[in-house]
Amino acid sequence: MYKNFALAALAAHTGWKEWQYYDNLGTFMLMAIPIVFLYGICIGSFLNVVIIRIPLGESLIKRSSHCMTCGSKIRIIDLIPVFSWLFLRGKCHNCGEKISPRYPIVESLNGLLYVACFLIFGVNTYTFIMCIFTSLLICIGFIDWDTMDMYVPMLLLIAVLAIPAHFVTYLTIQERLIGGAIIAVPFLLIGEISGIYIKKKTGEKIRGIELGDTILMACAGVLLGWKAMIPATFISIFLAAIFGMIIKKKTGESKFAFGPYLCMGLLIGAWFGEELTDLYMNVFFPPEEMTYYYTSMISSIF
Ligand SMILES: [Zn+2]
Repeated sequence: MYKNFALAALAAHTGWKEWQYYDNLGTFMLMAIPIVFLYGICIGSFLNVVIIRIPLGESLIKRSSHCMTCGSKIRIIDLIPVFSWLFLRGKCHNCGEKISPRYPIVESLNGLLYVACFLIFGVNTYTFIMCIFTSLLICIGFIDWDTMDMYVPMLLLIAVLAIPAHFVTYLTIQERLIGGAIIAVPFLLIGEISGIYIKKKTGEKIRGIELGDTILMACAGVLLGWKAMIPATFISIFLAAIFGMIIKKKTGESKFAFGPYLCMGLLIGAWFGEELTDLYMNVFFPPEEMTYYYTSMISSIF
């Protein structure tokens, strides 16, 4: 996993010409990175459509892209991801109204994260699955940020990704099932209990953890396995705590969407979660005891 990253990093230091004599993979990575990035920003352009139209209940394919202010159709030449926005200096060609920097941000974010997946997982089927997962997380995160709501079919798609992933990874079905429950079950309990408590106290129908967040963690757990889910959740809560404080200080709003932070945590969990859990286990449980601990824990559940 890290070999690819190391090779690409080395290739970046020693230069493209040096590397074609020593290692074809290094050269390949260097040439492939821009292509992966361009592919990523093109998909990112579609994600912008998804993020805007799904909450509005609009069709994803029917109507061609149009300006949000004047409604004029966007010219083919202005549909190039990131570059068109830069070329138009973020303004509509027809009415001159500002076009949100959100568009190039989503596009380049998708491109950069595809490159990251490519560097971390290498050239294989799992990278492709992780790229789809990344794009789904971007959509889920941004839609939750905008609307405080999640679109359930999108969450279920993450669980569907576990099927092709099962054939290309070594995760067992038990590890996937534990992954699906390990965070979702506590989240569900916290959500239910806090929901009852808040309703009793204020009469409002709010849950501490929304059902969408719970379903997201269940579906991601089935895809990533329990080892990735634990660090993913800790990172999510840590990020949500920091950003939550910043948001409260800036806007005075104490209610904010948890989804974007869960998505960030899940992405880091998908990349390094298993390694982080193994590292933790190796430090706190010496290897012989570790195998005993694993087997006894898993067999006590099943
Ligand atoms: Zn316009």
